[in-house]
Order: sequence, then structure tokens, then C-alpha cells
Amino acid sequence: MTMINTTFRFYGNLNDFLPAKQRNARIPQQLAEHAAVKHPIEALGVPHPEVAAILVNRAPVDFTYRLQADDRVEAYPQEVVHLLLHHLPLRPPTPAPVCFVADTHLGALAAYLRMLGFDTLYRNDYDDAQLAEITATTQRVLLTRDRGLLKRKIVIHGYCVREVDPRAQVVSVLRRYHLRACVQPRQRCTHCNGLLRAVDKAAVLDRLQPKTKRYYDAFQECATCGQVYWQGSHFAQMTAFIESVLAQV
Ligand SMILES: [Zn+2]
Repeated sequence: MTMINTTFRFYGNLNDFLPAKQRNARIPQQLAEHAAVKHPIEALGVPHPEVAAILVNRAPVDFTYRLQADDRVEAYPQEVVHLLLHHLPLRPPTPAPVCFVADTHLGALAAYLRMLGFDTLYRNDYDDAQLAEITATTQRVLLTRDRGLLKRKIVIHGYCVREVDPRAQVVSVLRRYHLRACVQPRQRCTHCNGLLRAVDKAAVLDRLQPKTKRYYDAFQECATCGQVYWQGSHFAQMTAFIESVLAQV
């Protein structure tokens, strides 16, 4: 096996995955000749779904490109890909309307996305293999903080959520997928992802607390789990939350 010298450089938020000394720097890599470019990118720490474009010696390539001696590899994130003159698509476009599947540690983010109207599958007992299978078979974008999960080969559409605070997480997901104009609050059940429908007060009367019966007249019901929603004290908090998210996107 012939070994060759190459260099890798990562742009924008792909540097989030690198140790400090490798950020925004040429990283020398001695590799087997004709190795596919995807493997060293992931070995350096960057999950493949995060990479939107690759240039080798300033020419666009895809993940199957075979490395040659002295190649200079540059990898770009989605956020800056519009700045490139040309690039080869590394995956099919994100399906529209975008739907998500959220990893088990992202329950609060999943609820927020549902609150904003986005179809978001979430269960607290999915394992990594199930999550990868769901994103591969349903074209849902996988949201996770687990870099190893994103490196799985069958994951095509995925996003590594950098933030820890769920409110910051939802802002970053809306930015990443340009979803500001697609926000449709109060369409979807935050508990189960089902769609909400308007329902007569009489139909849900037996599920209401006395005070709710007395003070409210407009109700929605989840078509899937039956959860009843009304414009109570939570409503004002939710409206303020949505406004604060939209102000940041
Ligand atoms: Zn529901």
C-alpha cells in the first residue's frame, strides 16, 4: 500500500468538531493512496451529514473521490456553501416540507419543534440503530448531539445540535433549515406529534377541570392522543416563547 501526503482544511462551523489546534488550519494527513475522501473527514471528527461541499485542489468532488498525492482537501458546511462557485451535491436535497426525528436526549427540542408546527418524531426509548433506520427510510432529518450516530453510513440527512439549552437548540435548527417562514404554531400536539383540530366545548366537557369549563370556550383536540388544548395561562407563555424564537431566527 502506497502512503501519500495530503492536507485537510475545514470551514465555518465544521471547526466545532475539531480540537483547537486543527481549527481553520491545514491539517496534514498521511493516507493510503486512493482512499475515499469521506473516511479521513470522519476520522478527523466531522460527521458526513454536516459536510455540504468538498473541494480538492479547488475542484468540486463528492464523498467517493479517491485521494492522490499532495491533494489539498477543503470541506464546507451548509451555511457557506452558497459562497462557492461550484460544488457537487453530496446528498439529495433535504426533502420539503422538512420533517425531523429527534434523538432521545432532545425531548424538549422535539416538543418545541412540534409547538412551532414541525413534524417531529420522538420517543425516549429509541436506540441508535432505530434512529438511523428511521432517518434512512423516512427521509426525516436526524437531530442529535451524538457525533458517532451521525457518522453511520445510512444517515443521509442529519444535524449535530451544538447547543445544550433547548431554546437555543430550536433557534439553531430553524436557522439551519431556513424555517422561519414555515412556523405554524398550535397545529400539532407537543406530547405525541399528532395534528390538532378545533373541537366543540360540549365534546370535551368531561375532560375539563371546573375552572377551565367556566372560563374558556375555544378548544382544540389532538386527533391522535385526545389531549385537549385551550388558550389558558400556558398560552401567553407559549406566545411569548414563539415571539422570542422568531426574533432570533
Ligand atoms: Zn397528541
